[in-house]
Amino acid sequence: MDAQLYDTVIVGGGPAGLNGALYLGRSRRRVLLIDSGDARNMAAGVMHNVLTNDGATIADFRARSRAQLTAYDVTFRDDEVVSAESDGDHVVVTTKESGTFRARTLLYAAGVRSVLPPVPGLADLWGSSVFECPYCHAWEVRERSYAVYGGTVPSECLASTLTVWSDDITYLTDRRELPQDERDRLTAAGVPVRTEGVSELKPHPEGVEVVFEDGRSTAYGALFLHLDIEPRVDPLRPWLQAPDLESVQTDDRGRTSLPRLYVAGDLGRNMQQAAMAAASGGLAAMAINADLIREDRPGSLPEPPPPTPAR
Ligand SMILES: Cc1cc2nc3c(=O)[nH]c(=O)nc-3n(C[C@H](O)[C@H](O)[C@H](O)COP(=O)(O)OP(=O)(O)OC[C@H]3O[C@@H](n4cnc5c(N)ncnc54)[C@H](O)[C@@H]3O)c2cc1C
Repeated sequence: MDAQLYDTVIVGGGPAGLNGALYLGRSRRRVLLIDSGDARNMAAGVMHNVLTNDGATIADFRARSRAQLTAYDVTFRDDEVVSAESDGDHVVVTTKESGTFRARTLLYAAGVRSVLPPVPGLADLWGSSVFECPYCHAWEVRERSYAVYGGTVPSECLASTLTVWSDDITYLTDRRELPQDERDRLTAAGVPVRTEGVSELKPHPEGVEVVFEDGRSTAYGALFLHLDIEPRVDPLRPWLQAPDLESVQTDDRGRTSLPRLYVAGDLGRNMQQAAMAAASGGLAAMAINADLIREDRPGSLPEPPPPTPAR
């Protein structure tokens, strides 16, 4: 057990956790940030839509952020948190390799995982020619032909949105029956539909080759699809005493209905974008700072309204 009592342990060193650390460090708080190093966007290599960092590599963004944080009382551990619980007065955080740490508060910013459909070859192309977010990736492949895969999660709104970047879009149902409203939106967007099964995706000089189950194939500049996500909440489960984070109420600053637990980033209520994750980390940090002041100087700040149901 580390003898230090931190003001906040932050789980997750992506944009949300790093910006939370910046706000808390500049608030003269003692912070420990623990990160296991597998960010959601690592497959893409670079990030967009973040001012002054448009096109920066994720590794470089993280390294420069950490370098700036060394000006403050922020300590880093490259490790995986396996459990985080409250003992009432404090939070007890246990890692795989560096032991156990105590803090007054926990900022949980561990992100989410994208759940890829089981189409052979898709995972290998994820982040290079298979994408989810048009705002993050479509500029680089603008005016090319796109396939939009709607075989598992309906993606017709994504196809409609992509008409800004390309007028050559084909919707692939992979044999899924299309409900009428989904079909109507595709018709309104002028997006044709292919219904045959998809057997494989392969790399192609143009981007991606879609092999259909009858053996025919078509090359596209990129394939886009909507995905399900899994919140990375396993270490929190004993504390949550609930199946998921959504059953814990949060306010718009990341305060949860569990004392001392705050959430930020893709796990929270915001749109899943790096700049918004960073902003939510800052908001949660301000809530933490205010709540610590309330604890140290009772009555000095008004109480915040209770959290409302999540999302
Ligand atoms: C392929 C792809 C490309 C994207 N491109 C863009 C883009 O160009 N622009 C944009 O704005 N958004 C982009 N996004 C979305 C963006 O990645 C997320 O919105 C953003 O990374 C969320 O930040 P976060 O801090 O919440 O989580 P993450 O960035 O996912 O960071 C979470 C961190 O927590 C760590 N962690 C998880 N569990 C534990 C644990 N138990 N112990 C310790 N550490 C843990 C992980 O290792 C990770 O480093 C992209 C997403 C994907 C999937």
